[in-house]
Amino acid sequence: MPVLRVALDLPLHRLFDYVAAEASTADVGLRVRVPFGRGEKIGIIVEVAAGSDWPLEQLKVAGEILRDVPPLPADFLRLCEFASSYYQAAYGEVLLQALPAGLKRLDPPTRRNARPVKITESVPRPELTGEQAVAVEAIDPAAGFAAHLLHGVTGSGKTEVYLRLIERTLAAGQQVLLLVPEINLTPQLEGRVRARFPDTGVVSLHSELAEAARERNWRAAFAGEASIVLGTRLAIFTPLPRLGLIIIDEEHDSSFKQQDGMRYSARDVGVFRARQLGIPILLGSATPSLESWANAQGTRYNLLTLKERANPEASLPTVHVLDTRKMVLQEGVSAALVAGIRDRLARGEQSLVFLNRRGYAPVLACPACGWVSRCTRCAANMVLHLADRRLRCHHCGCEHRIPKSCPTCGNQDIHPFGRGTQRLEGWLRETFPEARILRVDRDSVKSRKQWEAILERIHGGEADILVGTQMLAKGHDFPKLTLVGVLGADSALFAADWRAPERLFAQLMQVAGRAGRAELKGEVLIQTQYPDHSLYAALVKHDYPGFAATLLKEREQAGFPPYAFQAMLRAEAPLMADAIAFLTTAASLPVVAEHGNILVFDPIPMKMARLANLERGQLLVESHSRPAMQAFLPAWREAVEGIKAPAKLRWHIEVDPYEF
Ligand code: ADP
Ligand code: ZN
Ligand code: ZN
Repeated sequence: MPVLRVALDLPLHRLFDYVAAEASTADVGLRVRVPFGRGEKIGIIVEVAAGSDWPLEQLKVAGEILRDVPPLPADFLRLCEFASSYYQAAYGEVLLQALPAGLKRLDPPTRRNARPVKITESVPRPELTGEQAVAVEAIDPAAGFAAHLLHGVTGSGKTEVYLRLIERTLAAGQQVLLLVPEINLTPQLEGRVRARFPDTGVVSLHSELAEAARERNWRAAFAGEASIVLGTRLAIFTPLPRLGLIIIDEEHDSSFKQQDGMRYSARDVGVFRARQLGIPILLGSATPSLESWANAQGTRYNLLTLKERANPEASLPTVHVLDTRKMVLQEGVSAALVAGIRDRLARGEQSLVFLNRRGYAPVLACPACGWVSRCTRCAANMVLHLADRRLRCHHCGCEHRIPKSCPTCGNQDIHPFGRGTQRLEGWLRETFPEARILRVDRDSVKSRKQWEAILERIHGGEADILVGTQMLAKGHDFPKLTLVGVLGADSALFAADWRAPERLFAQLMQVAGRAGRAELKGEVLIQTQYPDHSLYAALVKHDYPGFAATLLKEREQAGFPPYAFQAMLRAEAPLMADAIAFLTTAASLPVVAEHGNILVFDPIPMKMARLANLERGQLLVESHSRPAMQAFLPAWREAVEGIKAPAKLRWHIEVDPYEF
């Protein structure tokens, strides 16, 4: 009897053998029902073998092999195998997270196989600018694997480059996978893609789709009926029979990094997938990640540049740095910014005030006894949300009513400290009573529908002043927007996380890029107490390459990525001492000494040392050689699995950690 080697959705680095009455190697990649424990599970057949390492009579008999979906192809299994070994994630977990939920159910809902939606109204394509044409010509979908980095300033028309390449790939009868950071923030892009290719099946794949829709889209992509797949990071694990091009828009965006469950970078998996299939991959950004930038300075990636805005009438905004140390501010806003907003109001143009902190104030405090609104479950303050009269922890989500008096000393005079978007909005309403003000953050925009409605209002000229967080920074064209004011950016300059400046620069570049997208000239006012900081100097000059060069030099001197390869072991437990003891044991395992070239740091509490009542510690390991790191990690992981730990302790390994 043939033996099925089955991958199951379990955090175990092994496969499970079952005997089957009938099976052939053609069944590899199919789903199968198998008995497990006292119940049943759905697994994926990854091998059909003649025998097993176990005595055959001890093996259980597999249940039904499911044939409603064709077998996952071999290249897809290899992709998941790679991700499993690179990220130290269980193969079964990687494989099964790639399937829509309905296909993992023992009692699947019956569904019809709807065809992807097609629109028939087509939109003419613009003439390419010279720079765009060069970029499009440089990428040959037929030339095999190549990784291209498209560095284009905001408004340079990167999307048009994508669309032309999609066009070519479709003409060759192939599929395109286009990844975007957050699909909710990019309805414009989806609309543009659908309008340009009205006769082509376009499906989207992201976590906010209803289960049935996601399964329908996944099936259409896998069946090859949809030629364009537009998705968020999870879409990188979609089996696509005719994949010919991968595009990752805003490749620097942190949302391509999954930070829980299976921790992976969709961008890096994308590069692996393109190499595996021998197809091109295009990474696009106005502010590439330093990893990609370094690769493009060398020979690994091909650098393509768009220096000019595509619209000949539009130019990059003028950026001014305002030294707030010499100014009297009102609710954190300078007189220059107030005057700028007044000008725009008079001219019927829009202004945007950027403050990347939602809520009314970051903390409520008692000046009499020093009480502050700490979250009892996390190492964080509770944020004051005045509109719904709540104190809310942005980390664990717990919330309380606002106390009428200080819980410690009874003082009635407790104050909000600092400022969030709600407070700023209130002050702007008082200052500009005639203006129509729209606040855009996670509290005011909770769904895609709300976001689309807000975008429509902004485009329809129904708002004079926008106040908001980074939600406003991403890829939107607001033709009437001519002024951007930036508040509260300084706090990220000296953050403990060494990636903070890179992120801040990208964010400010993006938000500044909203201004002057059309023929109206844009202006950006950045309020800061550090006007001479090199980050702001680079922004004034729109000089990403200069800024990146400075940061890369710092990284090289400090021995940080991309000049080193890192992995993080994290442990959480009710007591910090337990977490640290576990990490200390992990750091001194014999396997550590057996592997040369691996540097193990001391275990330390995480920056957010307490989250939802768990204490968290971390242990960083580093190597200057990726192969050395990749040889070390599986051996280390196995040894760590053998450590006796308290029952409530949980741990995981993150490869190429993103946040510190
Ligand atoms: P990016 O993504 O690089 O910030 P977009 O792709 O959003 O830029 O393009 C910016 C604007 O330029 C859009 O309004 C787009 O329609 C316009 N545009 C792009 N390419 C061209 C072109 N070749 N000719 C004229 N306008 C263009
Ligand atoms: Zn008090
Ligand atoms: Zn909390």
